[in-house]
Amino acid sequence: MKNTTVLISGASIAGPALALWLARYGCTVTVVEKAATPRPGGQAVDFKGATHRTVLERMGILDEVRRRQTGGHDQTVIDADEKPLAVIPGEFTGGELEIRRGDLAELLYERTKDTCEYVFGDSITSLTETASGVHVTFERGAPRTFDLVVGADGIHSNVRRLAFGPESDYVRHLGYYYALADLGGTDGDNDGAAVMYNEPGRMAAVGGPKAPAFFVFASEPLSYDRYDPEQQKKLLMAAYKGGGWRLPELMATVPRASDIYLDSLSRVVVDRYATGRVVLLGDAAYGNTLGGFGTGLAIVGAYVLAGELRAAGGDHRVAFRQYEEKFRGYAKISKQGSAGPFLAPPTRLRMRLRNWTFTSRFLLRLMLRLTDRFATDIDLEDYRF
Ligand SMILES: Cc1cc2nc3c(=O)[nH]c(=O)nc-3n(C[C@H](O)[C@H](O)[C@H](O)COP(=O)(O)OP(=O)(O)OC[C@H]3O[C@@H](n4cnc5c(N)ncnc54)[C@H](O)[C@@H]3O)c2cc1C
Repeated sequence: MKNTTVLISGASIAGPALALWLARYGCTVTVVEKAATPRPGGQAVDFKGATHRTVLERMGILDEVRRRQTGGHDQTVIDADEKPLAVIPGEFTGGELEIRRGDLAELLYERTKDTCEYVFGDSITSLTETASGVHVTFERGAPRTFDLVVGADGIHSNVRRLAFGPESDYVRHLGYYYALADLGGTDGDNDGAAVMYNEPGRMAAVGGPKAPAFFVFASEPLSYDRYDPEQQKKLLMAAYKGGGWRLPELMATVPRASDIYLDSLSRVVVDRYATGRVVLLGDAAYGNTLGGFGTGLAIVGAYVLAGELRAAGGDHRVAFRQYEEKFRGYAKISKQGSAGPFLAPPTRLRMRLRNWTFTSRFLLRLMLRLTDRFATDIDLEDYRF
């Protein structure tokens, strides 16, 4: 293979998954991550259907994902008096195989840290393409040159901004924010039953094995520093002011939250995945926050991108074209819908309608069949031999 030195920006799911394959195919891989360590946190993420299973199995992590799975737990929708209104079946929220995002990120890091170079606490500041590579400068480290650069740095991708243009050209705000906050014992600490409480335009879910506490609320775009937890705590508390049920008690513990992650529900739409020697992968290219497909798309996308590079002998022009051609159709699910109105319906009527869908076995089966179809809608090639 030519083009064997590859820089990947982002060490969450897409980045380490690609690193795993590229190292196996003989590349020299560097992963740069802005956070100081592999980032913990996040709710459970899920896999469904034969395509996800096959890729996890070929990666050699299927058994370990199964060992760490959380899935299969029902969640009860309650009113302010804790009266049950509906039960969301575990098979709906958890897919076929469910694992906490932080556990999956850690597992992928563990499987690649000895074969790839990881640089934490740094970020790319410029990308300059030459005939033979990409010259890269960093916030902290010395400049280096790589054959290829991959942006696997999420919805707010830094690589996309540097190589394709400003975020406003590619990211659509979907009118909602979500927050995950580790509230200690208050969020159930894995023992309490999983419950979801709604008021028009806001939702709080606590308890159960998917911890931490999970909030979704309707909001216009907010201006804040995504790396400042104190600002995020204040925004969360402001969004839930005056709420019923246990919201005042939960909000009172937010200032002491050991971990918080607050971000918008956004959709990424790019007109192409690659420009020259730079290519996008995962949420950076086809993110749709909480859409339920992000992690599956990242894992399958990494498999196809690495496989196409191998099949093209490292010729990035051929490989990136093939990756886009073969993957765009599969990633179309990311262009549809928004989880916001479903998780936090804007009116009481919409709340009742949403709850009603969980009481209908027919509708549930239909939704499950549809998601299964999207998750398996690709002809997977076997690039390994
Ligand atoms: C902390 C965290 C919690 C999450 N929680 C959930 C959840 O509860 N439910 C859900 O459905 N999805 C969640 N996600 C998103 C989910 O991981 C993705 O939708 C999906 O797995 C695709 O992953 P990705 O690797 O493409 O992007 P992401 O998982 O978003 O990862 C992007 C990575 O790039 C890093 N990064 C960002 N900017 C830079 C930069 N300038 N330089 C270097 N690295 C950079 C980020 O720190 C992050 O590690 C979460 C992501 C993170 C990072």
